[in-house]
Amino acid sequence: MQNKILYNSKEAAKPKTMDGWLSADGHFWPNKDDPKFAEHHARWGGCTHKICECGNEHEKHYTICTACRNKKAKERYGAMPFQEYNGEPVCIFQSDIYFFSEEDIEDYARDNEIDFAALELVVCEPNYMRCFEIDDMYADELPEDQYVSDVAPDIAAKAEELNELILKEKPILSWRPGKHRTEYRG
Ligand SMILES: [Zn+2]
Repeated sequence: MQNKILYNSKEAAKPKTMDGWLSADGHFWPNKDDPKFAEHHARWGGCTHKICECGNEHEKHYTICTACRNKKAKERYGAMPFQEYNGEPVCIFQSDIYFFSEEDIEDYARDNEIDFAALELVVCEPNYMRCFEIDDMYADELPEDQYVSDVAPDIAAKAEELNELILKEKPILSWRPGKHRTEYRG
């Protein structure tokens, strides 16, 4: 039989306070087994800024400050192998600014009052038109051991013909940043 406990008795309930961390945004993290965990989450929730390894403050969602980010980006750019500029499309490192002619580069440098050497140019690589992989396109609908050529041989042959034309003409659809840095010297 269960022991009898009266509503107003000390046995029924006793006051208890719980240790933990309250963040500035009103969230309570109880210490439970790991006070460090609770403190970290409360501080993270309540803060807006952190201190960078260099001592500068930065917004909490970045791991380092703007100055350190710029410095690291400069180092990454400098570490890319150099290739002489030969008039091919180039872009500014880590940007969506592309130049398709010397004139484009000169206009941009003049409008932004920036030296050619400071532009941090990257040689671009072409995005070629891809071939049609019709067996992949219809893989979900095709029976496991069949190809488009089994079901629709004329269409498979046309696709093959189209792919041959794509490989022969190699149309360039667009450009993407490549792996080499370059410099326009004017
Ligand atoms: Zn920093």
